[in-house]
Amino acid sequence: MATIKPIEGRTVHQIQSGQVIVDLCSVVKELVENSLDAGATSVEVRFKDQGLEAIEVQDNGDGISPHNYETLALKHHTSKLSTYSDLTTLQTFGFRGEALSSLCALSRFSVITCMAQDAPKGTRLEFEVSGALKGTSIVAAQKGTTVSVESLFNNLPVRRRELERNIKREWGRVVAVLGQYACIQTGIKFSVTQQAGKGKKTTLFSTKGNQTTRENIINVFGAKTLTALVPMDLKLELEPTSDPSQRCSTKGDAGKKDIRILGHISRPAFGEGRHTPDRQMFFVNARPCGLPQVAKAFNEVYKGYNTSQSPFIFANIELDTHMYDVNVSPDKRTILLHDQTRMLENLKVALTELFESQDYTVPISQL
Ligand code: ADP
Ligand code: MG
Repeated sequence: MATIKPIEGRTVHQIQSGQVIVDLCSVVKELVENSLDAGATSVEVRFKDQGLEAIEVQDNGDGISPHNYETLALKHHTSKLSTYSDLTTLQTFGFRGEALSSLCALSRFSVITCMAQDAPKGTRLEFEVSGALKGTSIVAAQKGTTVSVESLFNNLPVRRRELERNIKREWGRVVAVLGQYACIQTGIKFSVTQQAGKGKKTTLFSTKGNQTTRENIINVFGAKTLTALVPMDLKLELEPTSDPSQRCSTKGDAGKKDIRILGHISRPAFGEGRHTPDRQMFFVNARPCGLPQVAKAFNEVYKGYNTSQSPFIFANIELDTHMYDVNVSPDKRTILLHDQTRMLENLKVALTELFESQDYTVPISQL
């Protein structure tokens, strides 16, 4: 009979890393979120060959302090969270300290960083596959951090082949998710470029550091999209429940739960020609996430007014951090909303009221 043996450390690290960084989209998401967590007001995402060759994210955030170089890419090392209870009041995107360590295991990974007081002198950091610091050198840099990921999944041949085979679909998802961050983040300049081979760099979109999501949507999707949209500000008041297991707030305020949904949605008479999931965006406290049940509720109400088209939806659900759990899936994209059933019922009522309240059902050409 075969003997039970421990898996070699390096292999364990690779397997676990492959669960944090599952695809191109997770790389982009982790790096952009790190830039936002570092207080950046400018985030530039550059792709070579749609990310197959390289992904680079440059920000003008705080930079990394030299005393953190050694631990930067070590597993479960983070500057953002130290105890489990911090998780419930989490304000940052990151919290597991796994992204950079995983990228070391899965790609050729390097960082250039510079804190304000050191500009124009930055430091380039290189890492071992394990995440240990391999070496540093001085380079020219401005305040901020540039993270570079080359040859993603090259050491996991099956995953690499899968990435190459599905690159068209993956790329679509990457562009969509970047559009979501660019639209939701006000006061931040986003730019996304792609370079095929030695060809010319093309800009996919860029935002201008606008103060409103409305202007961001214009920058990303074009002004034409916006004329067809209704501004949305739905307030859902969930009554405190008598069932303690359904109570989400632990703050002792008798479970009072107010939810606000802010954003933009197509006029019922002016939707998108076909169903376009990349034009339906959902956020929880500005964190992009897939919320299939919420999407379904929106689409259902809309269908009551327009059966042939599908709406553009940009919806940010603002709610107390006690009312959801982001620690459900490794990619943090799945968010568990407590009390979702009641929330969805109220959402449908509020959205119907919005559509009924003004003549949003009349095509704009007839207004
Ligand atoms: P987490 O975001 O969960 O902390 P990461 O592996 O993504 O874990 O990052 C590890 C640490 O590296 C962060 O806690 C942060 O201190 C630092 N860091 C990563 N990216 C940046 C960046 N762009 N600018 C400044 N610091 C960064
Ligand atoms: Mg992170």
